[in-house]
Amino acid sequence: MIKVCKFGGTSMADGITIGRVKRILEADPARRYIVVSAPGKRFSGDIKVTDLFYQAAQEVKEGGHVGPSYERIEARYISLVEELALGIDIHALLEETKAAIEADGSADFAASRGEYLSGRIMAALLDVPFIDAKDVIKFQGGLFDAERSYTLVREALRGKFRAVVAGFYGEDENGRVKTFSRGGSDITGAVVARGVGADEYENWTDVSGFLACDPHIVPSPVGIDKLSYKELRELSYMGANVLHAEAIYPVREAGIPIRILNTFRPQDKGTRIQPTERFRPSERTVTGIAGRKDFTVIFIEKAQMNEMSGFALRPLEILKRHNISFEHMPSGIDTLSFVIDSKQLGGGVLDEILAEIREAVHPEKLNVILDIALIAVVGHGMYQKVGTAGRLLSAIARAGVNVRMIDQGSSELNIIVGVDNENYERSIRAVYEEFFGREGA
Ligand code: ASP
Repeated sequence: MIKVCKFGGTSMADGITIGRVKRILEADPARRYIVVSAPGKRFSGDIKVTDLFYQAAQEVKEGGHVGPSYERIEARYISLVEELALGIDIHALLEETKAAIEADGSADFAASRGEYLSGRIMAALLDVPFIDAKDVIKFQGGLFDAERSYTLVREALRGKFRAVVAGFYGEDENGRVKTFSRGGSDITGAVVARGVGADEYENWTDVSGFLACDPHIVPSPVGIDKLSYKELRELSYMGANVLHAEAIYPVREAGIPIRILNTFRPQDKGTRIQPTERFRPSERTVTGIAGRKDFTVIFIEKAQMNEMSGFALRPLEILKRHNISFEHMPSGIDTLSFVIDSKQLGGGVLDEILAEIREAVHPEKLNVILDIALIAVVGHGMYQKVGTAGRLLSAIARAGVNVRMIDQGSSELNIIVGVDNENYERSIRAVYEEFFGREGA
């Protein structure tokens, strides 16, 4: 049995939390390969070390040298090593790192040092080999080179019973350090799990798994015991940010289950994420609810649109020309809508697109609905039960909210409703009450 364990920033925040990590690792000999994040926040209002490294990179850019942020970084690592009573020369390591950041000059390199240093510390604490992620995680042409990285991970860890791998970064074809997007140590963990063919990928964080909806909207929502990869993908994409959305692919392809666990409550069951094919949905109709605000809907109406071949291509080409991606494209017999993240439409882009659509398709109606929130109601259980969509819509109607859009994807997994931004929280509460309040916790 091989488990790969990834520990997030709050687990690596200080000597006490790292002590917890060590106990968790000692409790199960299958926990063999460890991926770590940089030290995160110790308390609310604290600054993540990664953010300090980005500031340090900025200081180098402006003045050629690191400034006050690097002193804060040093203080974090020095106190951490002292708390752990570790015998490594952290002062020398920090000096070396400072010189390397100033020499390299890139933000990616500076940011990667957070994980590099916490990896070195963790490896020293456990007395196991340290694997520098630049040797095993590779990028090519700006993109993550999955196959090559899996092979390099496998080769680097072959014959090592245990090892620590730094999360978040790798190396590109020019030998420069490159990071994943923020929160990317989750991806490194998944890549290592895939590379060694792990039986399970444990992702240790500061919550006991996924909750059925955002706890800032519904106080203490129920936890989700199990999810399929597909459900996870839908929920993460729509804002349930327990796990980096891209961390799913490497393990999903290999059918490796993920378990989300809480470093601060290791006894909790957490959430187990399993391959969709082997997944047996729970009794619940809905597995989870997620959502995001600030979308724009472009609505096009033209009689007999359905009979014109290639009609949809024209607006799609316009969006492509402006480099705009859309989230959904609900359509009717004579209507077609695009739901687009509003961030992409600033600076006059929306007006340009509308003018071009008008010109290209001469619609009878071309409407724009601004400030839309999307709510995704996700669960394999939904389609086995009659009347789910009806229940969902009546719950929102009972809350006095007008549904502006519905998209029931054919994936048989989710229903997306669009409501005005201002009705977002109210709608989520209503949907939660309908599916979780009534069905019991
Ligand atoms: N330290 C990086 C960040 O703050 C990556 C991670 O923690 O996963 O985004």
